[in-house]
Amino acid sequence: MARHTAIPGPLGKRPLWHWRLWLLPLLTLVTSLLPRIVDCIVAGALLILLAPLLLLRALVAKLRAGRVFAATEKVGRFQVPFRQLAFADDAPARDLAVLLNVLWGDMAFAGPRPLSPEEAAAVPASQSIRFRLRPGIFSPYTLRSRIGIAYEGEGELDREFYYTETAAGNLGLMLRTGVGGLVAGDAIRPAPDQLEFFGVAIANTTMSEAIDWIVRRVREDRPATIAFVNPDCLNIAYGNPEYREVLSKVERVLPDGIGIRFGCRILGTSLRANVNGTDMFPRLCERCAHENLSLFLLGARPGIARQAAENMLQRYPNLKIAGSCDGYFAPDAENEIIETINRSGADILLVAFGVPKQELWLWKHRSRLKPRVAMGVGGLFDFYSGRIPRAPLWLREIGLEWGWRLLQEPGRMWRRYIIGNPLFLYRVWRQKIGKLTL
Ligand code: UDP
Repeated sequence: MARHTAIPGPLGKRPLWHWRLWLLPLLTLVTSLLPRIVDCIVAGALLILLAPLLLLRALVAKLRAGRVFAATEKVGRFQVPFRQLAFADDAPARDLAVLLNVLWGDMAFAGPRPLSPEEAAAVPASQSIRFRLRPGIFSPYTLRSRIGIAYEGEGELDREFYYTETAAGNLGLMLRTGVGGLVAGDAIRPAPDQLEFFGVAIANTTMSEAIDWIVRRVREDRPATIAFVNPDCLNIAYGNPEYREVLSKVERVLPDGIGIRFGCRILGTSLRANVNGTDMFPRLCERCAHENLSLFLLGARPGIARQAAENMLQRYPNLKIAGSCDGYFAPDAENEIIETINRSGADILLVAFGVPKQELWLWKHRSRLKPRVAMGVGGLFDFYSGRIPRAPLWLREIGLEWGWRLLQEPGRMWRRYIIGNPLFLYRVWRQKIGKLTL
């Protein structure tokens, strides 16, 4: 016979004033208030510590601009408008006045970017969760867009922040913004549609536009070859006319890595996004699964491309991988491999033989290859197969993915990064002053 035990009610047998009854609600309240409590303490402490500087700053603003504060209309938590403060003149440290907004509760140290009333009006209902948070001096979107990796878009990053915010996470965000700012720089420079390094024209675009472009080429049945270039590739192109010529002929060259951003800084331009193959791959797989387009993965060591394909199929069950093959075949197997690719009916071909081998191979066989879009993708199957772990996101957010790769394969990478990066920047500087000979 089943024995029934009495299930206690929410209060059980304890009296209402028993401390254990209140422990959980109290802890819930304190932890949810923790970011705000930390903000108040830090803003208060900073205001006290910096009081002499702030008073001096206020005086300077009053003398130079005739008033202490300049206020910009912003939309805050629960869509309540507020005025974001800055000192009224253009001298350094003008943004320090924003500490008053934090103390007052209009803003937080970390949160979604403060929006103007026009921007706020354009936020779709699906992204309105951002208005449950105080706008932040530091925001995940600003951090990633400055370094060119805000691929998900602002709404998605704000939503993620809403669900994952912690006081420790906020501190990390502020530190990464500080370091990332040193790496990426804050100056606003023009972003032309096309960049040019060492005679190679590079599309200055965003990840979503680049993927739209690929899908369009397949749909319109217009063949295209795509190459990604980082400083190492451009150094190779500088000394290898054959590779450089291929880069000048392919339909699209896309910018890969923080080094290109530095190069743009030297030339006085700005890179819209870091459109590299490794970040593109999962997004392209997701889109292809949606659009019913198929991929063929060619390259890397035996078993690696297949493993990368299997991992992607787990993530995107509707994805069609038409086939895969390693990149260490004998020269006389080439025809058979091209046949296999063509028979597979793949729409898009990804080739990972390393630079410049993959680009030269694709260019040589372009008229025989049936996939409408083909691209050289370097070592990305090694990452997605799990053979080589990719740099953690926080390192990518501060522009140090190359440091991670250097630590992983120092023997192979030191030349690429320790010698290659400064050499690239030196050559960009020569290009800027019109003294680079090709
Ligand atoms: N590879 C290949 N066949 C070759 C030479 C290289 O399949 O004959 C592969 C290699 O296994 C690696 C990729 O090409 O997966 C090149 O990786 P690398 O790290 O050089 O690429 P990157 O750093 O340029 O992205």
